[in-house]
Amino acid sequence: MRLHDTETRDVREFTPLVPGQVSLYVCGATVQAPPHIGHLRAALAFDILVRWLEASGYRVIFCRNVTDIDDKIIRVAEQEDNPWWVVSERNQRAFTHAYDLLGCQPPDVEPRATGHVPEMIALMQRLIDTGHAYAIGGDVYFEVKTDPEYGKLSGQRVDQMRGADDVTDVALKHDPRDFALWKAAKPGEPFWDTPWGPGRPGWHLECSAMSMKYLGEAFDIHGGGIDLVFPHHENEIAQSESAGFPFAQYWMHNALLGVAGEKMSKSLGNSLRIEEILKLARPVELRYYLGGAHYRSVLEFSEDALAESVAAYKRIEGFVDRAAEALGGAADVPLVAGNLPLSFTSAMDDDLGVPAALAAVHAAVRDGNTALQQGQLDDVRDSLAQVRAMLSVLGLDPLSEPWTSTDNQNEQMREIVGALVQVALDQRQAARARKDYATADALREGLEKAGIAVEDTPNGPRWEIRR
Ligand SMILES: [Zn+2]
Repeated sequence: MRLHDTETRDVREFTPLVPGQVSLYVCGATVQAPPHIGHLRAALAFDILVRWLEASGYRVIFCRNVTDIDDKIIRVAEQEDNPWWVVSERNQRAFTHAYDLLGCQPPDVEPRATGHVPEMIALMQRLIDTGHAYAIGGDVYFEVKTDPEYGKLSGQRVDQMRGADDVTDVALKHDPRDFALWKAAKPGEPFWDTPWGPGRPGWHLECSAMSMKYLGEAFDIHGGGIDLVFPHHENEIAQSESAGFPFAQYWMHNALLGVAGEKMSKSLGNSLRIEEILKLARPVELRYYLGGAHYRSVLEFSEDALAESVAAYKRIEGFVDRAAEALGGAADVPLVAGNLPLSFTSAMDDDLGVPAALAAVHAAVRDGNTALQQGQLDDVRDSLAQVRAMLSVLGLDPLSEPWTSTDNQNEQMREIVGALVQVALDQRQAARARKDYATADALREGLEKAGIAVEDTPNGPRWEIRR
């Protein structure tokens, strides 16, 4: 498997530190607002990575943090006249709900910044003891000039960098480029006690402390959005490696979601809230759309492109449904990696080439549809096995959780609807048999109006619930 490493600026062979095991840290959300689909795009990029690593036989340990305290959260809380943790909790739940809705596997651990202050204090103490950091006025800063490699991730030279604008009282710093590890508490703000006074974590420090707590001093992959390369990840590297830890071996960054040429930023977020977009597509279709682009390509959001993805997914789903029906169920078609075509595995092994992998899915769907038309059930079975194995890796198999409902009441309702539709279809067949086409058409239209699409096939009429 080959992955793009931002630090080495190339696609290189992936070799984990421990054979057969992969440790992955991804920078999660700062929970000052509910998620928009840009956040989901990022989550899906790493969900697909985890799924492909697992399908390739690795045991993955996946840690994604939650930044539950920062300036924006404090500001929102002040506006609402609520404690900061009300804002963080509410938005964290909204993120979790959105991840679940799109079928993202939960991380193995989801640590919150405010739960890891002792680890941050230990890391700061270590940096102060080794001369890489200094405390002044209740703040603690990392001294950039003590790290000869500073700038290596983002490819910048220190002498050409601007100052870090992360604190209000810049005058305290030895050098404007020094960045805050810890911020002294301002009046009325939440704080945690440290040997240097009360305050709260700087964003960069959190991720170093949490990643190494759960994954160890050296771990395999650190991921996040491309907008985090500088300063966030550059600073994580500086403070972790200066403290003497090997830290991350590979750096993976997903490209952002674009809107009409503009970068997806927080101010554009409102119209792209999940609940707005889900008026246009089902969750699985949104997953297909957001996860279908290569993770390092900017995805320009448009309703037309979303509609194309909806149609493409329906074609795949239509084949899976018809094939399962023709075979009398899909239960005896096992979801095994051995059913993955080479075109799919080589695409995924080449830095998660999802677009090429989806092309392999569509090729297998076409073969399967041909086999269906010709009544070649063995070929139908082979195609279905391939299609479902591939979709399963991408989290898109329509016959797997969470896209099938095992909810009892739901199942019961489906059975009742199915029986009622069958009554109408039988009447329609009877009307057609006596050449009463007006009644047959009226029955079909009645079903259409109720949201039931009827399709006449050589094996008789099929129906499905339209959105
Ligand atoms: Zn982070």
